[in-house]
Amino acid sequence: MATTERAAERAVPAKRVFFFGNGHAEGAGLGKERLGGKGAGLAEMTALGIPVPPGFTIDTSVCLDFLRTGDLEGLKPEVEDALARVEGSTGRKFGDPANPLLVSVRSGARSSMPGMMDTILNLGLTSRALDGLAKASGERFALDCRRRFLQMYSDIVLEIPRSQFEEILTRKKEERGAKSDADLEAADLRWVVDRFEDLVRQRSGAPFPDDPREQLWGAIGAVFRSWDNDRAKEYRRLYRIPEDWGTAVNVQAMVFGNRGERSATGVAFTRDPATGEKRFYGEFLPNAQGEDVVAGIRTPRPLVADGSGTSLEETMPEPYAGLLRVRDLLEKAFRDMQDLEFTIEEGKLYLLQTRNGKRTGFAAVRIADEMAAEGLISEKESVTRVEPEQLVQLLAPIFPTKEKEAAVQGGRLLAKGLPAGPGAASGRIAFTADRAVEMARTGDPVVLVRVETSPEDIAGMNAAVGILTTRGGATSHAAVVARGMGKTCVVGAHEISVDDSKRELRARNLSAKEGDFLSVDGTSGEVMLGKLPTQPSEILQVLIDGSLPAGKSPLFGAFTRLLERADRARKLGVRANADTPTDARVARLFGAQGIGLCRTEHMFFGENRIVAVREMIVAENEADRRTALAKLLPMQREDFVGIFREMGERPVTIRLLDPPLHEFLPHEEDAVAETAGELGIPPEKLRERVRALSEMNPMLGHRGCRLGITFPEIYEIQVRAIFEAAAEARRAGQNPNPEVMIPLIGTKAEFERLRALTDETARRVSSETGLDISYRVGTMIEIPRAALRASEIAAANCDFFSFGTNDLTQMTFGYSRDDAASFLPTYIETGILPDDPFATIDQEGVGELVALAVKRGREARHDLKLGVCGEHGGDPRSIHFFHSVGLDYVSCSPFRVAVARLAAAHAALSGGGVSSTA
Ligand code: ADP
Ligand code: MG
Ligand code: MG
Repeated sequence: MATTERAAERAVPAKRVFFFGNGHAEGAGLGKERLGGKGAGLAEMTALGIPVPPGFTIDTSVCLDFLRTGDLEGLKPEVEDALARVEGSTGRKFGDPANPLLVSVRSGARSSMPGMMDTILNLGLTSRALDGLAKASGERFALDCRRRFLQMYSDIVLEIPRSQFEEILTRKKEERGAKSDADLEAADLRWVVDRFEDLVRQRSGAPFPDDPREQLWGAIGAVFRSWDNDRAKEYRRLYRIPEDWGTAVNVQAMVFGNRGERSATGVAFTRDPATGEKRFYGEFLPNAQGEDVVAGIRTPRPLVADGSGTSLEETMPEPYAGLLRVRDLLEKAFRDMQDLEFTIEEGKLYLLQTRNGKRTGFAAVRIADEMAAEGLISEKESVTRVEPEQLVQLLAPIFPTKEKEAAVQGGRLLAKGLPAGPGAASGRIAFTADRAVEMARTGDPVVLVRVETSPEDIAGMNAAVGILTTRGGATSHAAVVARGMGKTCVVGAHEISVDDSKRELRARNLSAKEGDFLSVDGTSGEVMLGKLPTQPSEILQVLIDGSLPAGKSPLFGAFTRLLERADRARKLGVRANADTPTDARVARLFGAQGIGLCRTEHMFFGENRIVAVREMIVAENEADRRTALAKLLPMQREDFVGIFREMGERPVTIRLLDPPLHEFLPHEEDAVAETAGELGIPPEKLRERVRALSEMNPMLGHRGCRLGITFPEIYEIQVRAIFEAAAEARRAGQNPNPEVMIPLIGTKAEFERLRALTDETARRVSSETGLDISYRVGTMIEIPRAALRASEIAAANCDFFSFGTNDLTQMTFGYSRDDAASFLPTYIETGILPDDPFATIDQEGVGELVALAVKRGREARHDLKLGVCGEHGGDPRSIHFFHSVGLDYVSCSPFRVAVARLAAAHAALSGGGVSSTA
């Protein structure tokens, strides 16, 4: 049985070419894996009865075979078959000189790779067919098709740069005073076509191939080969697209939007991709072909009537009505916002492409919410329709719409680059990092403008409110660093040229000098001349400032519903890192279920506290130290009371003192003298203490629980402050839930000692106040040894582990977090590391330690609570990982709580395995 089946398979080779046309698509239902996104879209549209020019799709599997063997011979019978069917349904013959069938040869991978793979239009237009087409449909039209074909084919297949053809065309346009291609007449185009042919002969040493089948196979091979060009490879690396997917090839009968004024080509979105509003949105150009609309040669016109009288709705009502019907059909069939390409040939509408449309974070939230309300998608599905990171856009400061529009309309739009760090920033231009630092010192906001950035620019980037580069992509140094810093950033704004020596930038017909104001929109990528005001995002206006009533913000409504649905789906808890009552309030408003990290040292820097802190540090014996600590106690208690008040009965994890003591002491000579005065001790004595405390390697030095071991009274006072505050909160009617966290544990003995100290202090406070506060004591796991010895640490009556993944990453890699900026961007750009391990957890190495500690910890103690409080707690990909290893919660900065809630839901909804990028 099995043998005959196999024999049968061999006898009938798997089908690799799929015809579509006349309402029938052989590939319908096969999906993107086989047909690529474009081919699948064409097949589905055809099957839905939408008018699509007939054609066929060659399976993606052919691509890799071809790249290996360089041979397409075996494919020929199938392609000839399909081509014959296209001929049949159009009534034209490929290569027929009198009535030629022309085709487009289009690439199309599984996920869209914009601009990466190339398309050839008007293929089959040989020199003889040109005459036939001219006779049948007009000379100008035929020549327009021919010049386009020559240019595209030569560029993609013969590898003669497109720009050389552009030059010839531009020369003609200038000579004729033509504003655009559409203004050239037949005779002009004839001249252009002749020069194009000369150019090909000159560059390739042979005439332009005039055999239609040679053209077809040349094009098919070139599309397959384009899978391996550098741009495509780079794009795949960036977006983690597997190398072995391959691209499909689509061969499709041409329809002509350049056949006169009743013809047109355009693009449309079924909903507004910027705001998500359910309105038809798009642009078109009459008498044009292919990408003319997006190429910026002529100003496109709107689809929907806007009073200008030039819209498609007004000028071509019938095809417009057809387009509206298609819009409905497609949204119902694909259940998502679609981005379409269409062409109108002499009044008849054709669809050429459909795909899920790219959208801003604003639009993503609104569309998901409204589609769920319309019943088009389920509520669960709506949760998966918004990328967690997109929520950052909704929270970042914005330029008020009116002012931005005024700037653009006033001609101040300089360029559009790649959005690399959301938010809006307006500041004075600095062209070097040093100048940025200097200018920022005067208190003015600064925008740092560089061709690209390098590690020496870090200080300038830090001083700037916004960063702009003219080169580089989404993983360039500037983009990586800006993301880490949470800075507004636009990269790769090619149109801008920077003249460092003149301290000037130029783009279009605009220019600006150092010190001039520049405004960058890191959400849209737009760069504008001049100063624009910024305002908090709509969500913050409602949630935090209370300046906008919730009922007045549909966006806020959609945002809230999305997160409520996410909460129902997720398994991971989400807490926030918050050090002050203000932070705690923001965290709570964003939906944090507790505080996962409250750093006590931040409280020590307060104005009147630092003196007491320093007294404690310079103290020479325990008694003096206790006197100083006694002054700190009430202040620290106050902080905790405020935080407990905000958090109610939600758990609050408080970390005992962590940084090395010398961080609290002055280092400059002036400051030493002044501080000595404040402390009432001779400067020499203070200097000595500073010297004694200074370390070669402070991050690996006298810090964390090592302080608690050597100066137990410091930890004792902190613990006392926590429990006295908890008692006070209890008396005020609250039910506080403190968790004492001991940092930097490496051995079981350290933990045992400090646990005992905590319990003893809690007991004392309890007998003083007469109140029994329930509490937990746990540790951070941030030293590799602690992860390895998790089992005995957990068994030592440890109630929880909180992974301090910042330090754990630092110590596992041996990269100093504070110094890694000098080499990490290079590591990422050159692919040594896939990501910044301080931003996205290294699942293989650091992650293995986490997984190991989880396993060993839980084996030793089944009810051990597990969380993470490093930066990674707010990173979607890391959250996926934490979900998969079974942590109880993640903790992140208050502003990332929404992102984490959504990412945790995605992790739960996707089945929860270790993410595919592992
Ligand atoms: P991309 O993947 O870059 O979008 P496409 O294959 O979609 O490339 O094609 C580029 C342009 O050519 C698009 O505007 C598309 O609509 C147009 N086009 C492609 N095939 C045809 C065709 N058969 N008839 C008319 N226009 C076409
Ligand atoms: Mg396209
Ligand atoms: Mg740490």
